[in-house]
Amino acid sequence: MSYSIEKIASLLGVEIYGGREGSVSFLLTDSRSLCFPEETLFFSLRTERGDGHNYISELYARGVRFFVVEELPCEWEKLYSQASFLKVSSSKRALQRLAACHRDEFHIPVVGVTGSNGKTVVKEWLYQLLSLSKRVTRSPRSYNSQIGVPLSVWLLNEQTQVGIFEAGISKKGEMEVLRNIIKPTIGVLTSLGDAHQENFVSMEEKCREKLRLFTDVDALVYPYDDKLIRSCVDTFSFKGKRLGWSVKDTSVSLFIKDIKKSELSTTITYIWTQEKEDSYTIPFIDDASIDDSITCLALCLYLGIKKEVLKARMPLLEPVAMRLEVKEGQRGCTLINDSYNSDINSLDIALDFMNRRPDHKGRKRTLVLSDILQSAEDDEALYRRVASLAEKRGVEKFVGIGETLICHRKAFDNIKDRCFFATVGGFLSSNAFRQMHDEVILLKGARCFGFEQLTEMLVNKVHETVLEVNLNAIVDNLNWYRSLMKPQTKLVCMIKADAYGAGSVEIAKTLQDHRVDYLAVAVADEGVTLRKNGITNNVMIMNPEMSSFKTLFDFDLEPEVYSFRLLEALIKAAEKEGITGFPVHIKIDTGMHRLGFDPVKDIDELIHRLQKQSAIIPRSVFSHFVGSDSDSFDDFSSQQFALFKQGADKLQGAFPHKILFHMDNSAGIEHFPYRQMDMCRLGLGLYGINPRSNKCFNTISELKTTILQIRSVPKGDTVGYSRKGVISHDSMIAAIPIGYADGLNRHLGNRRGYCLVNGKKAEYVGNICMDVAMIDVTGIDCKEGDQVEIFGKNLPVTVLSDILDTIPYEVLTNVSNRVKRVYFQD
Ligand SMILES: *Cc1c(COP(=O)(O)O)cnc(C)c1O
Repeated sequence: MSYSIEKIASLLGVEIYGGREGSVSFLLTDSRSLCFPEETLFFSLRTERGDGHNYISELYARGVRFFVVEELPCEWEKLYSQASFLKVSSSKRALQRLAACHRDEFHIPVVGVTGSNGKTVVKEWLYQLLSLSKRVTRSPRSYNSQIGVPLSVWLLNEQTQVGIFEAGISKKGEMEVLRNIIKPTIGVLTSLGDAHQENFVSMEEKCREKLRLFTDVDALVYPYDDKLIRSCVDTFSFKGKRLGWSVKDTSVSLFIKDIKKSELSTTITYIWTQEKEDSYTIPFIDDASIDDSITCLALCLYLGIKKEVLKARMPLLEPVAMRLEVKEGQRGCTLINDSYNSDINSLDIALDFMNRRPDHKGRKRTLVLSDILQSAEDDEALYRRVASLAEKRGVEKFVGIGETLICHRKAFDNIKDRCFFATVGGFLSSNAFRQMHDEVILLKGARCFGFEQLTEMLVNKVHETVLEVNLNAIVDNLNWYRSLMKPQTKLVCMIKADAYGAGSVEIAKTLQDHRVDYLAVAVADEGVTLRKNGITNNVMIMNPEMSSFKTLFDFDLEPEVYSFRLLEALIKAAEKEGITGFPVHIKIDTGMHRLGFDPVKDIDELIHRLQKQSAIIPRSVFSHFVGSDSDSFDDFSSQQFALFKQGADKLQGAFPHKILFHMDNSAGIEHFPYRQMDMCRLGLGLYGINPRSNKCFNTISELKTTILQIRSVPKGDTVGYSRKGVISHDSMIAAIPIGYADGLNRHLGNRRGYCLVNGKKAEYVGNICMDVAMIDVTGIDCKEGDQVEIFGKNLPVTVLSDILDTIPYEVLTNVSNRVKRVYFQD
């Protein structure tokens, strides 16, 4: 649906500055996601860190003409002569208000889903259950925030027959806003957990806040057996129907009479509003899935879906995979595997992800897509939209798989390189498949097409041991540290040592996308790798080698300079190349006594030397705390800081341009916020470990492997080299394909350390070998092929470093290169 800009101005109650012509179909809040500039309205949002107004000139250059702004300097009307500006007092509120007006155009059932867990699964399953008979519009992925909800609601269109939207809140007052946008006619409360509890005084307050979404609904589905929810719903004044479900109380709307689990499925017998009992089966056996299916059942029955229909559809429910994974593939390819439901909105999000990740030159961006199922949209229009999205988001090669895509192949005529196959098998046996090389491939297939076969063929044969890295967690950690910093303070992200073991290239892509000011690596080669992979961010080299200067200049990598010897050599090399004004970072030694200029003795000579030449200029000056992680060094830290200031101020005094001062590392950002100065350097904290408490607060990586073989070993036998693993009673011993060559420290052997098998501790028995280790799984329910966690969410890496009497930095950076890194976002 589109709106004229005049109509939007009148809905928002504001005037238009500039042109009054044109119409808007897309709303944009993140300039990086632009796709259809001509029909896009950009909302310049101001957050603590960023200001959307800064992107107006870039967006204007890319063809955007419609802007919602909070300020309008008079020169803009000249500067952007073809633009239309809507000036409002808050862009965020304008976005919310516009979405609310759009919502008012629809007189259809709209389901609002909230709760601490299960929102997304319930939303997706409702979609799976309803979309065969109705046209459903729903929130893409988990767009449930103050910005995500208006963007979701905007997707409602003329064809929509049912809307399903998720609402998520983290503090009081937010739900009211979301209610006014979603205006649900039916409510679903899934469960209450303790996520985001910090902003509420009690669980009851949180429950009541969530219920605010439902003040005007006709009916509310909720778990009656949860006492707190029941009492809040009971005392909550609303006129709609209360559709509680219970396994205990027969008087509720939906009584669950029986739940029978078998090995792979669960059959649930229920009585709906005192009618005759019936049952259905789902292909899941975990309690969360069972609860979520019951919630969906209640809602579908209320909407009038027939019991027989539900009985037929429930067994077909598919797991909701939220993951989008990045893996190294064969023949120079990278795979982006998005297992999330295949529909156009999630396709767009995945395409945006691919498009926004920089890449080295020459690699094609390829989309392999199956037929989009469960869409009630007219196929022709759907595939035309798919093709135009793919094109706009930079897809250069298209592989369509499925009969429907073959029928609509003409829609893809604008993509030069394209081919179509009825099945994955057909594609696998084609030349097109054999000739794939050096491409970034986005795989997006509906489950029934069996894209696993394709992934298996394309991925490098993975050693069973992998390090899984969660890119969202990196972003969360980045934002957490940013929230401790003043908005104007710049940030260096330390991605030396292959990003503390996580893999510097993919981490750098994510950080660049989130606009950090600098990336820092140890040596020039690491910087070159980043550049070759498309990283354009400022890059700092902490330990430049004398032999690498030419590389630094060629790839625009800014070295740290810590000694006169290095300084002289660098100046000489730069002069030889005819370079002027190359930025460098001056390190001052304030007590670490590792590298750096002496802030008292060396500084005059340093200034003198820098002033005498013009090949390089000091971009920043910095020093490093010896002990910001411990209070016991606070006095020493103060001394260090004073020394730094003395030297740095003197340096700055000698130059007219601004020189950035920085000293805080992760622990410093937290412990010495008043010492942030111009910039901070974030290391370990980015990876989810708090150096001050030595605790993992948000793990980003998990080292995992699988059981190769299990055997019983009788009492008295020994396990492993040198007969070290003496077995004192009959035991079950499993072998796992990870050894000290993978970075599993040998000192964890002989029962000093353990890993987790199905959540249970399994000690390392005997000496750890080069490629294999043996663990004691006696009494643990497990089989060959089961997953083993070496460290991760359930076994923090700090547990390992404590046992080894070292620091988590060492354990993380020891994970060897042969362990494949798999990146995902959820
Ligand atoms: C590694 C490093 C950091 C980051 O330290 P963390 O303790 O990991 O935050 C900061 N500054 C310099 C100079 C470093 O070498």
